Amino acid sequence: MIDIEEAMDADMEENPEDKIKTLEPLRVRSYSESYVKKKEEEDMTFVRFMKNHKCYEIIPTSSKLVVFDAELLVKKAFYALVYNGVRAAPLWDSTKQDFVGMLTITDFINILQYYYKSPLVKMDELEEHKIATWREVLKEKARPLVWINPDQSLFEAVKMLIQQKIHRLPVIDQATGNVIYILTHKRILKFLALLQKTEIKSPSFLKKTLKELNIGTYNNIATARPDTPLITALSMFINKRVSALPIVDENNKIVDIYAKFDVINLAAEKTYNNLDITIQQALQFRQTYFEGVSTCKATETLETIMDRIIKAGVHRLVVTDDEKHVIGIISLSDILNSLVLKPAGVPSRKSSSSSSTQGSPRV
Ligand code: ADP
Ligand code: ADP
Ligand code: AMP
Repeated sequence: MIDIEEAMDADMEENPEDKIKTLEPLRVRSYSESYVKKKEEEDMTFVRFMKNHKCYEIIPTSSKLVVFDAELLVKKAFYALVYNGVRAAPLWDSTKQDFVGMLTITDFINILQYYYKSPLVKMDELEEHKIATWREVLKEKARPLVWINPDQSLFEAVKMLIQQKIHRLPVIDQATGNVIYILTHKRILKFLALLQKTEIKSPSFLKKTLKELNIGTYNNIATARPDTPLITALSMFINKRVSALPIVDENNKIVDIYAKFDVINLAAEKTYNNLDITIQQALQFRQTYFEGVSTCKATETLETIMDRIIKAGVHRLVVTDDEKHVIGIISLSDILNSLVLKPAGVPSRKSSSSSSTQGSPRV
């Protein structure tokens, strides 16, 4: 009688290759499983970081905060933003004894775009309206306050900023009901960069290029020309929901950039009554020294790009090819979305069922 086990053993010894064949799949599987696990862990690097840090950690020991009473005249409010060198202010309703919203440069643009007729017609509404009146007139644009409390994680803050498509997130101390800081994408990325070297084992995907990672926007880039009328640029900001327009020449090569932030100079210079001027003319009011447009290439690594955007202190880089043609935009919201929300499986758009705008109930 033949012993089957003995026969199999003998057979294997005679054909060592067969032995290898039977072992190979096992080895491949365990290798690929550990690879997938390692990759998943790496992908979650920044999710873990953001979940482990709270909003209060990011608040500087001293910073300027301006709050507007909703009864303030719109015109004075925008002068006050300029005068105080801030980009936005929470709105206080003294009747409700509560914060009811934010006033940002986007609101200034909304107002200019809504009331502007021609350089010959004065915008009386801008001269006379209170913030509260304007919020009543443009009801669909006046949003309730989106805020966060200091004990919530930075992950929650990123989620709110991106899902709500806002650039300013007030941190409210529930014990006092006071706004203590206004969080931005810029501040969060700076904090990350500061602690990255000590707290984080640099994930390998940071060495990949923008092209490989497909981060940023590469279709329907909203651009303008130096001779585009300012009022057209303002409409593009609102209708295309973009925060800056790369300014290009007739060959689509980058020559400058006009950001929402630059619009506040119209209030500073009291020149908002003529919006028929060109972008080039408007850019002459830029207050700070302009070092040229900060750009990057799709073949550069995410690590290089994060470094550059943080150092430049701007909200986005314009992606160009070797001849400086504009091919895309990578903004801080694209970076935070891909580092933090995507790996956590959180959509960048808020589902219609989760309509809450607050972090948790205020006192
Ligand atoms: P910015 O002009 O500073 O880029 P945003 O993109 O954040 O401003 O503002 C877009 C719109 O959302 C504006 O009408 C603004 O008033 C509103 N908004 C911004 N932040 C908040 C917030 N935290 N809560 C409620 N509304 C906000
Ligand atoms: P915010 O801090 O409000 O997000 P931005 O970063 O959009 O402001 O703009 C601040 C200033 O930097 C503006 O004068 C704008 O023209 C300029 N700016 C914005 N993006 C770039 C860029 N990629 N390169 C150079 N300057 C830029
Ligand atoms: P931001 O408001 O800058 O945080 O950007 C929100 C989204 O709009 C991001 O996905 C950007 O890549 C995209 N974006 C910003 N500026 C432009 C632009 N000029 N044209 C097209 N997309 C843009």
